[in-house]
Amino acid sequence: MTYRGRFAPSPTGALHFGSLIAAVASFADARAHGGTWIVRIEDLDRPREVPGAADAILCTLRALGLYWDEEPLFQSRRTQAYAQALQQLTVRGLTYPCACSRAEIARDGRHGPAGPIYAGTCRPGLPPGRPPRSLRLRTPPTAVRVHDRIQGEQRQDVAQDFGDCILRRADGLHAYQLAVVVDDAWQGISHVVRGADLLDSTPCQCLLQQSLGLATPSYAHVPLAVDATGHKLSKSQAAAPVDPAAPWPALLRAWGWLGQAAAPAESRTSLAGFWEYAARAWRIERVPRVVRACVDPNPQASILL
Ligand code: GLU
Repeated sequence: MTYRGRFAPSPTGALHFGSLIAAVASFADARAHGGTWIVRIEDLDRPREVPGAADAILCTLRALGLYWDEEPLFQSRRTQAYAQALQQLTVRGLTYPCACSRAEIARDGRHGPAGPIYAGTCRPGLPPGRPPRSLRLRTPPTAVRVHDRIQGEQRQDVAQDFGDCILRRADGLHAYQLAVVVDDAWQGISHVVRGADLLDSTPCQCLLQQSLGLATPSYAHVPLAVDATGHKLSKSQAAAPVDPAAPWPALLRAWGWLGQAAAPAESRTSLAGFWEYAARAWRIERVPRVVRACVDPNPQASILL
């Protein structure tokens, strides 16, 4: 098997503990399989991008010994590929224009774990006098099953429980769900290891892969780190950045968070030594099978919810 894994940060801020977990897990899994590990900068959302964040993330990854095997891919340079995929879906009648604003969707939709679920208002056609804003996927009415290497069997009725996802946003930018599917396939990604905040998006991504005739990679979702109030440690909420000058505390904490056996002292004398150990010691079955877990403000301890 050719293993190709990836870490796909959005440059909306420095690398923090929440994103570090996904980086460490995807890297360790790739190395344990003797595979290739790629970094993809998901800089599609230009309005939310923080200048200098992509460079800062790459610099921190290097400082932690997380070396990528191929030149990082920047999604901002892939517009043409996304436009082509969108065209392919449109020709097959799988997209439709939507006039709804965020406020209308929040008002009319049911609320799922990832926010309001679009009620499909514009599916039968745009309401009279309403101009199109975004383009959505006409989700086929099928339940999707996905085997997740950490979270186990997942089943979702995408149309009902996730809704018709946006493919091109009201500001004209291509949306994450489309771009991630196009790039995972284009880069030949065989294994996706990422945060469990994306567990709910996975069935929709599988449907998009099928609609575009693309292969579905294997998925593993690591527990999402949340703060004491249950909120995701997001870059924008100023979660403390990982300090590239002091990589060890963050690295060992992430390793422990992922349920892995404590690294023996002799593996902690150099980063290269640690990663050699980690490639041998990584056991994905030890990662806690929970969707979210609380990061204790005291770095010595984490409480699994
Ligand atoms: N860019 C996404 C993030 O930073 C991750 C996307 C993915 O791994 O599929 O949360």
